[in-house]
Amino acid sequence: MAKIRQLDEALANKIAAGEVVERPASVVKELVENAIDAEATIIEVDLEEAGLSSIRIRDNGNGIEQDDIMAAFSRHATSKISNEHDLFRIRTLGFRGEALPSIASVSKVELTTSTGENGTYLKLIGGEVAEQKPAASRQGTDIQITELFFNTPARLKYMKTIHTELGNATDIVNRISLSHPEISFRLRHNGKILLQTNGKGDARQVLAAIYGMHTAKKMVPFNKESLDFEVEGYAALPEITRASRNYISILINGRYIRNYSITRAIQAGYHTLLPIGRYPIVLLSIKMDPVLVDVNVHPSKQEVRFSKEQELTEIITEAIKELFKKQELIPSGKVEKVKNYHKPTEQTHFSFDEPIKEQHPVQVNDKSKLEEPEPLGLNEEPVAQAREEKPTWNQAANGLPAFSLSSDHYEAEKEAPENQQPQMQEASRVPPLYAIGQMHGTYILSQNEIGLYIIDQHAAQERIKYEYFKNKVGQVESELQELLVPLTLQFSTDEWIRIQDHEKELEKVGIFLEDFGGNGFIVRATPTWFPKGEEAGIIEDMIEQLLRMKKVNIAKLREEAAILMSCKRSIKANHYLRHQDMQQLLDELRATADPFTCPHGRPIIIHYSTYEMEKMFKRVM
Ligand code: ADP
Ligand code: MG
Repeated sequence: MAKIRQLDEALANKIAAGEVVERPASVVKELVENAIDAEATIIEVDLEEAGLSSIRIRDNGNGIEQDDIMAAFSRHATSKISNEHDLFRIRTLGFRGEALPSIASVSKVELTTSTGENGTYLKLIGGEVAEQKPAASRQGTDIQITELFFNTPARLKYMKTIHTELGNATDIVNRISLSHPEISFRLRHNGKILLQTNGKGDARQVLAAIYGMHTAKKMVPFNKESLDFEVEGYAALPEITRASRNYISILINGRYIRNYSITRAIQAGYHTLLPIGRYPIVLLSIKMDPVLVDVNVHPSKQEVRFSKEQELTEIITEAIKELFKKQELIPSGKVEKVKNYHKPTEQTHFSFDEPIKEQHPVQVNDKSKLEEPEPLGLNEEPVAQAREEKPTWNQAANGLPAFSLSSDHYEAEKEAPENQQPQMQEASRVPPLYAIGQMHGTYILSQNEIGLYIIDQHAAQERIKYEYFKNKVGQVESELQELLVPLTLQFSTDEWIRIQDHEKELEKVGIFLEDFGGNGFIVRATPTWFPKGEEAGIIEDMIEQLLRMKKVNIAKLREEAAILMSCKRSIKANHYLRHQDMQQLLDELRATADPFTCPHGRPIIIHYSTYEMEKMFKRVM
């Protein structure tokens, strides 16, 4: 007897559901995407118990024709593509025709939909039609999923806590709303508003709704184009960081995706501006010909493949790098105490709870929507806490109201010609700083007409040295200086063999090894700029670095070398400086290309504006 048989449709749907419908968040994603594909301008998501007991999505989109309803719930039935040509030019979010049948097979579904004329009500239990009847309805679709996974207990068992599931669902709605600022979204959980966007097409408003006004204000727009790609978005100033990559949202042609190379490219754009282990908040939107990207990699459609990945990642890194070259990045010393609860800026989200007055967005002032939503953390980290511990950046330091320079301290400056004063020197990204004194042998206090600046002397010197060495390590032809006592370095046999493969690369960072026999090398000379007295340590560290690299990247190796050297020779805390040394350090710092963070990403300068100080002393209100 033949053993292979065709699975019946219900079972096939349940199997597909395993991939498409992993958790409540995946249902939310599929249904919201359907609403977007149906050209809705208002989408409301209501969850009960993180969606485990109910997920309801209402939209004012095109609705489903009466005759199409059954097809919508059968597998591989879609209105979005019809042939192979379409598959490689996908502009809609859905196209696989799998979501509705998969979701229906593992839950109870109630759907009311209308194209504007006759509406239909349909009820399915575990994918089987339980009821179907005509229904009066405005144009759009109202779909409610209850008892998700009621017939797949194994899946239900894998659900995490309400908190985690809600975090996932929120994350999805946040990202989708970022990809469609022209759609008004509202997300509620157990009746409480978690997100509300106004649908006016302003991405910054959506950022404010998700991350709070305070953070949104510190996100700077960027854009860049190449022949094949157009990238644009908002990047948070390096001061605002998070402990996970979850706050990087990547959109491709309006679809939000996950992609490691792009995330890496964004981080590379921030370069040394971020502390180790901290990640930026970024919204990146990439537009490209759909032919260049394959979204049909996984049923969840969150993974994609690009044809010109290298070109794409390069322009992303460049776009962000360029952005921060233009910014002044001195953080203000004031630490925020209040949590940044944000109010939705404008109450323009039309609600389906309201009696229907018009079919299209109207302004409604609904009291229930005036309650303040909680700031939304994406999954991992309580956002409010992260905000509290961070000082804020004062980008506008130079734009603050100028105060009259009445104090004697400013006399010297007053004499300087007008045009040199508040203006930064062209070459420097930091205004002139005048040393006042040193605190605890660690911080240099300095001032100018804009206010007080506190400088971490160790970090400042690391930055100065780093830039110096980085430049030096890059020069291939440097003058060599004989060491008084040649260095001998011993290694294990396997290391010794591996190092020999890398001699050329070491030469590119100024290290010249000579075979010595017995697993040893001898170094007779180093470049003249090599930090004196630290040669052996640095060379050993460099070799170790090189052996650890899987693929040797000379630029990276040079950078590591520069960081190592800058660290070794920098003045530590608790080191007293003379006034002129302080001033010299400040001047040298201002001459660096990146005076705001040390090579490890820690801040160098903290700023209190005169205005802030006057406020603290209640001289101004
Ligand atoms: P896909 O989105 O991949 O086409 P789905 O199973 O998600 O597959 O949906 C099947 C079809 O049902 C869609 O192609 C669309 O025609 C219709 N549909 C689903 N949801 C909606 C909605 N909210 N509004 C209008 N039509 C919808
Ligand atoms: Mg779909």
